[in-house]
Amino acid sequence: MKNIHVLVIPYPAQGHVIPLMEAARCLTSNGLKVTFVNTEFTHKRVLTSAHSEIDCPSGLMQMVSIPDGLEPGNDRNDFGKLTKAMFQLMPAKLEEIINDINKNDDQKITCIIADCYMGWVVRVARKMSIRLALFCPSSAAVLAVTMSVQNLIDNEVINCSGAPLKDQMVQLSPTMPLMDPANFLWVCVGDAETNQIIFDFAILDGKEAAEASDHIICNSSMELEHGAFTLFPKMLPIGPLLATNKSTRQVGHLWKEDSTCLTWLDQQPVCSVIYVAFGSITILNQIQFEELALALEDTKRPFLWVVRPGTSGSMDYVYPSGYMERIGTRGKVVSWAPQQKVLNHPSVACFMSHCGWNSTMEGVSNGVPFLCWPYFADQFFNKTYICDIWKTGVGLNKDGTGIVTREEIKSKVEQLLSNNLIKENASNLKEKVMDCVQAGHSSNKNLNKFLDWVKEGNDHARVNESCQ
Ligand code: UDP
Repeated sequence: MKNIHVLVIPYPAQGHVIPLMEAARCLTSNGLKVTFVNTEFTHKRVLTSAHSEIDCPSGLMQMVSIPDGLEPGNDRNDFGKLTKAMFQLMPAKLEEIINDINKNDDQKITCIIADCYMGWVVRVARKMSIRLALFCPSSAAVLAVTMSVQNLIDNEVINCSGAPLKDQMVQLSPTMPLMDPANFLWVCVGDAETNQIIFDFAILDGKEAAEASDHIICNSSMELEHGAFTLFPKMLPIGPLLATNKSTRQVGHLWKEDSTCLTWLDQQPVCSVIYVAFGSITILNQIQFEELALALEDTKRPFLWVVRPGTSGSMDYVYPSGYMERIGTRGKVVSWAPQQKVLNHPSVACFMSHCGWNSTMEGVSNGVPFLCWPYFADQFFNKTYICDIWKTGVGLNKDGTGIVTREEIKSKVEQLLSNNLIKENASNLKEKVMDCVQAGHSSNKNLNKFLDWVKEGNDHARVNESCQ
């Protein structure tokens, strides 16, 4: 029997590649064939960082790449330039690669699952009469904002270029949390030019694709975002995706994982370690870096700290004088951790996090309380979920000079670790969220519904034309 063949395409950033890889693994473990399309730049990094070939025992996953439109030396952390360049070049390249595969492969691609921040894919799908589903790697609430853009314009919350018109919180529906327009993705992701590009190319295209796609699958759960899923029932929570794969190694990393921290964790007392990691994009300045280093020293507790090596746009940090000697084996610093495994380790007491959605989902599905230190974009909203709605963490506040001081860090660590209610909330939320992926429960049912739709693909090659 022929396998159904699905093409999966993420936005080229760490927080997108990992969850789309997990979604792809869900497909292959259900007997579907997947062609995973990275940009050339990301493809090289994923393969270099993987310890061996990407695990897919069934051989059902192939990894391919297309150019992103930027020159080799260009800064891929400049999301404005990257997004615009991709929009200009990638549609033609994607079409080419699909044509090549469909010419040579008797298992033709009948379905595309595109990252919702790669909305331009809708035009390729339409042109080639291939069915389209979207995958949302951020919270469903953030995608709900994208899908509500016209309403926000009509209600004069933003103008037609996306700029906020009012300095007040908004609520997309009575069951959704309040949101600050100043934290909408396209308002705070970069400078004015970058923000405009994100609005024009990622948000407006994303909205069009969301309306035209047959399904939108989300790495979230009904337990976590009931309001957003009720507002847009087309969004199907199938997560937490990583939770379904806890026993296996996470794939799609852009840095090599340093597993020595797991052995170090084995030597620490249960529930003692502060895990500190700020995802793949966050950059602290040197003053803030030192302040954090000294704060961790001051806590007198064991800590595991991810300090990414200098990449374009970031810097090589200088530790306070004599720091490493003073810390000794009480602190462990790695350049990239196997985060899922770390968060699943019994020695971890709390997670100091930038609140990226993947980190949020990983912390939640392991019942770990958070110290929230959002850096940009949707992370401020994710912090609202953690601190105000789920009540599974506390926020770190900046002082008048924009620094999170060592006193603030130390006092919030103590506050969090002595708060049994927050720990209990985190543990209860984990139970509820993990329950969603069990057979017959909400996320699992949605996943099966989605898989059924994908499997119908050979008979119904089409894309919803509703937005043409
Ligand atoms: N991650 C990791 N090791 C690290 C730091 C991060 O494996 O040392 C993973 C983390 O588990 C998550 C992803 O990188 O899956 C980061 O995504 P997130 O949405 O949290 O943040 P972003 O990098 O997009 O800001």
